[in-house]
This record gives sequence, structure tokens and C-alpha cells, in this order.
Amino acid sequence: MSWVIEGETGKWELVCGLEIHAQVISRAKLFSGASTEFGAEPNTRVSPVDAGMPGMLPVLNMFCVEQAVRTGLGLRAQINLFSVFERKNYFYPDLPNGYQISQYKHPIVGRGSVTIELADGSTKEIGITRLHLEMDAGKSIHDRLPDATLIDLNRSGVALMEIVTEPDIRAPDEAVAFMRKLRSILRYLGTCDGNMEEGSLRCDANVSVRPLGSTELGTRTEIKNVNSMRFIAKAIEYEARRQVEILESGGTVEQETRLFDERRGVTRSMRTKEEAHDYRYFPDPDLLPLELDPAFVERIRRSLPELPDAKKARFVEQYGLTPYDAAVLVAEREVADWFEAAARGRDAKKVANWIITELFGALNRSGLEIGRCPIRPEQLGRLLDLVEEGRLSGRLAKEVFALMFESGKDPEVIVEERGLVQVTDAAALEPIVARVVADNPKQVATYRKNPKVIGWFVGQVMRATKGKANPQLVQELLRKHLEEA
Ligand code: ADP
Ligand code: MG
Repeated sequence: MSWVIEGETGKWELVCGLEIHAQVISRAKLFSGASTEFGAEPNTRVSPVDAGMPGMLPVLNMFCVEQAVRTGLGLRAQINLFSVFERKNYFYPDLPNGYQISQYKHPIVGRGSVTIELADGSTKEIGITRLHLEMDAGKSIHDRLPDATLIDLNRSGVALMEIVTEPDIRAPDEAVAFMRKLRSILRYLGTCDGNMEEGSLRCDANVSVRPLGSTELGTRTEIKNVNSMRFIAKAIEYEARRQVEILESGGTVEQETRLFDERRGVTRSMRTKEEAHDYRYFPDPDLLPLELDPAFVERIRRSLPELPDAKKARFVEQYGLTPYDAAVLVAEREVADWFEAAARGRDAKKVANWIITELFGALNRSGLEIGRCPIRPEQLGRLLDLVEEGRLSGRLAKEVFALMFESGKDPEVIVEERGLVQVTDAAALEPIVARVVADNPKQVATYRKNPKVIGWFVGQVMRATKGKANPQLVQELLRKHLEEA
């Protein structure tokens, strides 16, 4: 079930690889002690190193190195004990040194892989080519003054991890699934907060197309600036269709950098290959090659948390969840923990269902993260206990749940306050059932021909009791009264 573009001349396949910039969680920058705090007054988090002052020397922040290694291990990747920082030379007003310190020939992390979850519940491996450390540039601000550009160097020197994937992506949705999974892994590891709005996770998409069945790679374009999950799929799909149109009308795709215009939903040319940079990389003479001790890597490996894939496998095994439900619950560590706390000693599948439908629905509607959820896991657990004990119907439980979400109150308190306990007393229901049967002779006649009509009677009794009657008991009583009618 592959994703293809139906062209005039036949079917086309998408080939896509991503280059991701992930800002490292670290209080200090990659080569200076200046703070990385987001949203500070412009140019107040800048050391002379970050400002490119002559004679200043970079000093490598080993915590950032640790974060890169941790990420590499989370991506099941080769950790290179030898890596080299190089200067990538280009001019830009917000790059005071005239070069960016990056890694080129010898990155700190080599090949790895990420498992993505697809909509049909299946999984697929996306290869990781490499991960390297580099410093971020400053920010040019064009919209503050009418005829001048301002420079903010707060971001200059902040550590980034550039993560490059193999061209393994074959559908726009796979790119989104990859970004979601990568973000999930980074957040579990605590190496990047994954916040796309604040720019701590940014993605460039390389896109080419080829006739379905061909094994050669087509000429690719690189789309910059696809910085929300919503637009990744759109940008890639638009670009692939644009290339198919060009190729089918006899043209050739130019290797170029394009920008995605979010407002119009199109990509447009930013710079062509002729304008492409020659960065004149060379090893930075101010920094020694980075040599890691295997024991350093081992120590980090032993400190890794249980990651989403392992947690998902455990949830399937230990709680009997479907792989799909397990994947949904483990995407965020806080949600997974919440689930486990609520499921302790209970029917875990039911707990999972309640979280995925009711709880996620309520959180979504109120724009809350799980960390600010007004209901505690044990409270949801006890609500389900009430259903299990037959004291609440499923329908009433949903009402109680909504009230719990509004008030943060315990389920027992709400049941008590609102008198919502299910009526399981036959003596109390008997007269209502008798009246409903007596009032509806026509339906009774229909029931004789078609016993399924009992559902209609159940509905009437439930309405008369405002949903508080126990449905099984109502069925039983109705059957008796209808036979006698
Ligand atoms: P560069 O060094 O110019 O950045 P790379 O070979 O490192 O180029 O590739 C950069 C990204 O482009 C990688 O994610 C890779 O998977 C992807 N890529 C390479 N060739 C193609 C292609 N023909 N179609 C789509 N993506 C490609
Ligand atoms: Mg590249």
C-alpha cells in the first residue's frame, strides 16, 4: 500500500530525506559559558566568543558532547570516539566570525535508525546517516525598523545537533511520522525540548521523484523552513507533484534550495546550484580533535531511560494493549507514566481506552498538556472501579468524568453530590417499566413480530430514569413485562 503520484504518463514514487536541526538542552552554549535562555533581552546572553571578538578562544562544553552521545545512543547509532570540529566559512550579518564551527568529515555520531509508526499500525525503519554538533548563528530581525535590520546574538553559539536521514521516506505522512518519533525520542532523552514554534526543532526536506519501480535517484530539491508538523506533509507533497509535472512535460528538475510559503501552500525557489556555497571547510585550529573515552560512552549508555520502542513493546506484552494503543500512549513519557499509574491493579485495556478517547479529548478541548491535567491517575482508576462494581453505567461514568475534569473532585464525591448512583433496585424500576409497556401498545405489537424492538423500550426507560437505570436489569424486567402484556 505505497503512496504514489498518478501522473499522465504513469505512476511516480516520492524519495525524501530529512535534515533536522535540534537545539541541545544545555544551560550554556557549545563553546562559551553564556546562557542559552530563550526570550531574553536581545544581546544580553553573549560572551566575547559568541560575538566573534578577535583573539577569543572557544572552549568545548562537554555537557553538550554528552547530550550528542546520548542522542546518538537513542538513535541506535554508531558513536565515533574520534571527531573533528571544522570551520564552515560563509558571510552573513548574524555570523560575526564569518564561519560556523561544525563537524564535517568526522561527525560525532554515524549510522543509526529510527522506527516509525504508520497509520495502519505497521512500522518502518528510517536510516540515520549521521549526527553532528555545530553552533547556531545569531538572528537577523527585519521587521522592527522600516529601513534597517537588527542583529540579536543571543542565539549565536547555542549548540545544535544536525541529524541527517537516509533517503528512505516514501510518503509525506512518513516524514511527519519520523518527525513525531524523533521528537518523542529527543524528549525522552532530555536532549532537545522539541519545540517547533520556538525553533528548537527545525526541519529541511530533500525531495525527488522517480517512475515507480525505478531504483535510480532523481534530482532533488531541498525545502527549507518547514517548521510545523502540519506543513511538513503539505510541503513535500506539493514539491513532489511540482516535480512530476515538470518531468512529464519534458523538463528537468533543477537542484536548488526552495522555501515553503505557508500562506499559499507552495514552494518557491530560494537559490539555485550556481549560487550554491563553497564553504571551504577546514579543521578549526582553535580546537583539538575530540577523542572520547569508551568508558564515558558506556556511562551514558547505562544512564539511558526506557525509550519509546522498548516501552511500547513492554505495554503490549505486560498489559495486552494493541501495538497502536501502546504507540499512542508511549509517545510522551508523561502520558505513559500517567497510564501506568492509573492501570495499576486494573483492566489496563479499559484504562487505555479511557485515556485515548475521553482524557485526550478533554485535554485537547481545553488546550492542556498532561502535566496540567486536572484529574489524577488514581481518580480515573477509581471512576473505572465504580463502573466495574456496577455502581455507575458507562454513560453516567462519562458524565462523572466530565465533572471531574471541570472540578478536579473525586468520582465518589461527584456521584454523591449529584445522586448519580445507578439504580440496580428492581423494585424501584418495576413501576417505570410497567408504565412504559402500558403506554405503548403499538410498539408492544411490533415487538411480538420483531424482538429487536426491545432496544426502543430500553431507551424509553433509560430516558425516564435520566440514564441512571442499570441497562441489563431494564432488559430483564422489560422482557418479563412484554411477555405478559
Ligand atoms: P548535502 O551534502 O548536499 O547536504 P547529502 O548527500 O548529505 O547532501 O544529503 C542530504 C539529504 O538529502 C539527506 O537527508 C539525504 O537522504 C537526502 N537526499 C540525497 N539524495 C536525495 C535524492 N535524490 N532524493 C531525495 N533526497 C535525497
Ligand atoms: Mg547537508
